[in-house]
Amino acid sequence: MLSWNTKSSLYEPNLHDINQSEILHIGFDDTDSLEGKCTTHLAFKITRFLLDNSDAQFIDYPLLVRLNPNIPMKTRGNGAVCLRIKAKDHEKIIQELRLIVEKESAINNGANPGVVFLNGNPIPKMIKDFGAIALYDVQSRQIAEKVAKKHCMSYFTFGNGQGIVGSLAAIGSLEEGDYTYEVIAYRTRDNCGTYRQINVTSVINYDNRTFPYTFNNYDQTHRRVLIAPHGPDPVFCGIRGESPEIVVSSLNSLCVEESLEGYMVFRSNQGTDMHLQNQLQLSSIRPYMSGYVVGTVTTTPQVIQGGHLFFAVEDTSGTSRPVAVYEPTGITHIASQLERGDTIQIGCGVHLSNTASQVILNVEYISILSIVQTYDLSNPLCTFCRKKMKSEGRNKGFQCDKCKYRNINAKKIPIPHKRSIQPGLYIPTPKSRRHLTKPPHRYGIEKSSWSRPNAELIKGWFRLL
Ligand code: ATP
Repeated sequence: MLSWNTKSSLYEPNLHDINQSEILHIGFDDTDSLEGKCTTHLAFKITRFLLDNSDAQFIDYPLLVRLNPNIPMKTRGNGAVCLRIKAKDHEKIIQELRLIVEKESAINNGANPGVVFLNGNPIPKMIKDFGAIALYDVQSRQIAEKVAKKHCMSYFTFGNGQGIVGSLAAIGSLEEGDYTYEVIAYRTRDNCGTYRQINVTSVINYDNRTFPYTFNNYDQTHRRVLIAPHGPDPVFCGIRGESPEIVVSSLNSLCVEESLEGYMVFRSNQGTDMHLQNQLQLSSIRPYMSGYVVGTVTTTPQVIQGGHLFFAVEDTSGTSRPVAVYEPTGITHIASQLERGDTIQIGCGVHLSNTASQVILNVEYISILSIVQTYDLSNPLCTFCRKKMKSEGRNKGFQCDKCKYRNINAKKIPIPHKRSIQPGLYIPTPKSRRHLTKPPHRYGIEKSSWSRPNAELIKGWFRLL
């Protein structure tokens, strides 16, 4: 079990009577590289700094915003962070955080950090729109800077400055719509890079106990723990769920065999399918967009070596595009039974094919809307013996083996074929889901929107251990 450091920062916000001009939204992104570090860990450090060194009160949980997962410039899960606080001396905080982001980012290892500040509430529509588009399309640095300047926002960029896109988008996100929580526990510096010891039984136990209010804990089919990454980054584990209380109590019930630095609860768009809300028209799709397509299957699915599967889909614009369903998704057995004429909706990312000569839709879910009746063709029966006749060759009719009756005009008879797939929703297996993928059991328990300012954060949303 985890043990608490009683001297750690406990925080009880008083959120009534907020002076809107005291509100500061802080977005940052692109601080890590594949060799180490992690933007959420920087968020943990910055939060600790703000709680210890300023009068900051958090008016929302730190936000972990997953942006378009199909863009090429991401390192891993395309996560960006936003902190929404109430504080008096914004200028001091801005200067301090600028230095922290610069010092703590992997700038020499390929990170291109951005940190953006917005003063006051409500968040302007243009910034929310920027965030909404960054979820399913490619946004440019230039537009991000234009939007930031138009709203007199302070911002700092390092490296090539691409981080400003995620930073600004994070500020504009999670104001409306569905959301979930994740508590992320961090390792001490000495433990980073070593094997993460997690007691599997304790994961299975809390997974069973908390279902359906936590998700992506354990993949039963592949017997795999899903809460811990495998790289050198400082994340020990992350537990996702529907409320801050349930993710923290699940973490508390874990048997952890190393000492940890602490943990923090994030509010997030993970597990919401937020990137797939936009309907894509096949005639106007561009590489790296995410969304959903409604169309008709136009070619018989073909399986290639490795178990991946390809077919084509056509939408109402009359445009047809190739579709790929990859073996690790675990839904190729469903896709392989599609027939020409079936109507489907697919959640997908638009990618360039291997030869980069055309776009291809990589499937993230398949919803079969309707299936066509298919037929097997059978040889006709002999009029006299009721035995199946034999073909005499192409366009030469059929002859009965028994009575030798020959019918030059006889044709094969269509026999209705029972389809082995049914209309329904098919989602990839847990181990191959994206952070944003909505797990099947979340359908029907989505939330409508986070309410502020009366919502209070739970005690212990941030802990040092
Ligand atoms: P991690 O998940 O470990 O935090 P990451 O996958 O988030 O890493 P980053 O290092 O943050 O990867 O890099 C993503 C980069 O892509 C950032 O510079 C971010 O500003 C930018 N970006 C994010 N979404 C978009 C988008 N829709 N269009 C253009 N750029 C984007």
